[in-house]
Amino acid sequence: MKFIDLGLDQRILDGIDAMGYETATPVQQQVMVPILEGKDIIAAAQTGTGKTAAFLLPLLHRLLTTQHDSHDINAMVIVPTRELAIQIAESLEGLSYFTDVSSIAVYGGGDGSSFAAEKKALNTGVDIVVCTPGRMIAHLNMGYVKLKGLKYLVLDEADRMLDMGFNDDIQKIISFLPKQRQNLLFSATMPVKMRDLARKILTNPVEINIAISKPPEQIIQKAFVVYEPQKVPIITDMLRSNVYKNVIVFCSKKQNVKQLTQELKRAKLAAEEIHSDLDQKAREQVLQDFRNHKLSILVATDILSRGIDIEEIDLVINYDVPNDGEDYIHRIGRTARAATTGTAFTLVSEQEQYKFLAIEELLGAPVTKGTVPPEFGETPEYAPKQRSRGNFKQRPGHKKR
Ligand code: AMP
Repeated sequence: MKFIDLGLDQRILDGIDAMGYETATPVQQQVMVPILEGKDIIAAAQTGTGKTAAFLLPLLHRLLTTQHDSHDINAMVIVPTRELAIQIAESLEGLSYFTDVSSIAVYGGGDGSSFAAEKKALNTGVDIVVCTPGRMIAHLNMGYVKLKGLKYLVLDEADRMLDMGFNDDIQKIISFLPKQRQNLLFSATMPVKMRDLARKILTNPVEINIAISKPPEQIIQKAFVVYEPQKVPIITDMLRSNVYKNVIVFCSKKQNVKQLTQELKRAKLAAEEIHSDLDQKAREQVLQDFRNHKLSILVATDILSRGIDIEEIDLVINYDVPNDGEDYIHRIGRTARAATTGTAFTLVSEQEQYKFLAIEELLGAPVTKGTVPPEFGETPEYAPKQRSRGNFKQRPGHKKR
């Protein structure tokens, strides 16, 4: 599904474009329509599935297309941790970049000046507040938070909030909110206590359950933690070894597909590119050459990650970390088809470490880290929690009030 089919406001489509999203992920396909229709939802969806944009995009659309008071808080997103609050605020900033929707992240641990800035925004009105429960209550107790016009409440990673003992805090925050509002609840798991919370908060919710696919066990997965400029030489070396007969290298961007193919050709490797700039006939020809073993290396965008069945692929290389966990599973699932074994390597740059961690969380286990031969030089440490988050392109002009 393309985002344009949902009838989203053009300014939001521009933001989606700037973030580099092309098609909606499964969770986005299922939750966006009911949210746009104004329904409450309860969705079982994990991190890495694109769930943040799944609720932010329809929320933004509704804010842009319905009357709302800019001197009020219109939407509140409650999350368990400061890290998640920051991450959601960053996504929001990217997706709403071409709109005039304002937002602020409200979380504990900052200094007095951040509390004062939060107080000012909560007092004068801000369209969307992304907050952790404890900090929000600290503000609510002071009586200045403008909540009269609040129309949307999102609880994200609700199971984690319950595990962290935030049940009473959530109930308390809700007691401050207007009764007439749309409620969206996201949770990776649905224990009984979650059902109880849902019953208290939601009205006739649409239930959505996104079954997460798992990669076949016979795929040997390895990640190489590298600096971005090391990727091309390392991939060239992997492919030169001739151990693998049929290889697909996935890149998230067409530009990278084109550049990498050039580099591989320069290294005299039998590589061709496949992406949406090629017409149907050219794509089919490349695929046919690959199936017939005239060609041993295919460099592709994600158009090839789903659905296309090519047997006997022994290696999949992720030139970059895919944007969502489902894409990772689809990409590596191109190898080890029909019960054969296969190998999947992912090159993870410093900026991508956080994204890769989200994929590991989705998989439920860390991926083995491979050793880069010393001739490629020193490599960075894998420390995803300390590094920048997501694939969000930092741009100037914070619209925080
Ligand atoms: P989330 O599950 O919300 O934490 O998102 C996981 C990652 O997927 C983030 O890096 C998002 O920027 C990215 N993402 C979300 N939606 C899409 C999409 N439709 N296409 C590509 N990437 C996406």
